Amino acid sequence: SEVEPALAVSDLTYAYPDGHAALRGVDLRVEPGERVAVLGPNGAGKTTLTLHLNGVLRGSSGSISVGGLEVVDRNLKEIRRRVGLVFQDPDDQLFMPTVREDVAFGPANFGARGAELEQRVHEALDAVGMTEHAHRSPLHLSGGQRKRVALAAVLACDPELLVLDEPSANLEPVARRELAEVLLSLGSTTLMVTHDLPYALQLCPRSVVVDDGRVVADGPTAELLADDEFLTAHRLEL
Ligand code: ATP
Repeated sequence: SEVEPALAVSDLTYAYPDGHAALRGVDLRVEPGERVAVLGPNGAGKTTLTLHLNGVLRGSSGSISVGGLEVVDRNLKEIRRRVGLVFQDPDDQLFMPTVREDVAFGPANFGARGAELEQRVHEALDAVGMTEHAHRSPLHLSGGQRKRVALAAVLACDPELLVLDEPSANLEPVARRELAEVLLSLGSTTLMVTHDLPYALQLCPRSVVVDDGRVVADGPTAELLADDEFLTAHRLEL
């Protein structure tokens, strides 16, 4: 039997209440273990797409399935366990007194208790290299460290799909490189929205380019980024 795709978006269409058509028939398939970048100019529809993946927005037509299960048939809590969204700004995600509590919050909310909870927190902090900071306040960490804690908070929920919104935004070069190393070490199925084309090239063998609500290219990142005419046509800057 065939392996279910980690994510299958089919003919997804969405207009905001003011009538603006933000998604115009988006198709996207991500296989388990893939890391895929979503590229595109400002206003292309990238954020609107990610808001559909974890059930915040619901398309007017088309479908989304994660691990073979239709997102529309699930309750929001189940979707958010399966689709781990790491926000652009970690301050939108971290609000507890300590790093450990922030990372424990998600899995506890999804029912993990006792030794299982501790194990998840331990593994997630280890995966992002933040174990030694477990008892510090996120307020006292650097931007790069906060970003890795936000990632750990999502990993601790054991998502089937990791969705990163602009992971390298506002990071110093060292923090940017540390985050890349962590992401490369994970092996999680990942969809990464970014304007940082070198980051996409480094992390994602495949990229999907969205412009004006449509997928205009889907292929090897290195090939897409080598095409100057294509980059100019879609207002992408290396
Ligand atoms: P950026 O790279 O700037 O984050 P994006 O690719 O994420 O852009 P979206 O934020 O998804 O693009 O926006 C897609 C389109 O939908 C844009 O034309 C935007 O102006 C419009 N849009 C976004 N949010 C709303 C809203 N709440 N109401 C109406 N239109 C919206």
